[in-house]
Amino acid sequence: MNLSDLQFLLKKYKISPNYLRGQNFLIDDTVLDQILAQAKVKKNELILEVGPGLGALTQRLLNLQAQVAAFEVDKSLEKPLLQLAGLNDKLELHWQDILSLTDGQWQDIMLLHQAKAYKVVANIPYYLTAKIIGKFILAKNQPESMTFLVQREVAERVVLHKQKHSLLSLSVAFYGQAVLGEIVNKNSFYPVPKVDSAILHIKDLHVWDYQADEVFVWQLIHRGMVAKRKKLFNNLLSDPKIEKQRLADIFIKLQLDQNSRAEDLSTNDWIDLAKNLSSR
Ligand code: SAM
Repeated sequence: MNLSDLQFLLKKYKISPNYLRGQNFLIDDTVLDQILAQAKVKKNELILEVGPGLGALTQRLLNLQAQVAAFEVDKSLEKPLLQLAGLNDKLELHWQDILSLTDGQWQDIMLLHQAKAYKVVANIPYYLTAKIIGKFILAKNQPESMTFLVQREVAERVVLHKQKHSLLSLSVAFYGQAVLGEIVNKNSFYPVPKVDSAILHIKDLHVWDYQADEVFVWQLIHRGMVAKRKKLFNNLLSDPKIEKQRLADIFIKLQLDQNSRAEDLSTNDWIDLAKNLSSR
């Protein structure tokens, strides 16, 4: 899909891009190729696409003969998408907010497709990036991989994080492996967004398999990050069950600097911290 194809569709169906829904449509075939190369989509594979929009990526997935279950929240895109679905029996449209998709509903869709696995491939609305990634990481049935087009800064923070973790980069690191794909110029979209994008591929997804309680580790992380500018040590002391001297001893034992911030800790540091705090 190029700019004139897109403008033709927008005009034909009297659609104007909705900023509130993060509608920056892809108009660059090279980028579509790059997304598909990262996702390694195979014939008959089940693909969950978030936000098909006017179908640029959807069409390419269908060209590869994948089975596509696409979730779109904006009903004003119904006509062009129904047109596409009318031509391809491998496209199934769900007019639904992706965040409301339940594990059970997805299970039923997989059964219907007789699929044992699936991949998520999408050019997602930027403001939902963390929520969408978090949703699939924690899904009962995790995808084989996820390939997203996201803001460049977010992709770089997740993959490179330069020893500074965010909640999102920790979530990805705990449950999978992130790979930074190509950087995508903002002119590859219409309307042109403010910033460049990048392809973020998350693979090797797995359930929690660490030697510390999952819930406790996340409680610690949330407590540690609640006031990001404050020292981790002080943030953790907001839990009345954590004694100052004991925490100081654990920091020494783990060679953690008392002046460090929560963002400085690696996944291993959080596991060690949780293990030490929960053992008496
Ligand atoms: N896939 C198209 C493309 O690449 O040109 C459109 C991508 S556009 C960045 C994001 C799409 O996600 C829009 O079509 C928008 O309506 C849809 N969307 C926004 N919020 C959504 C949600 N919560 N659930 C499902 N789709 C959503």
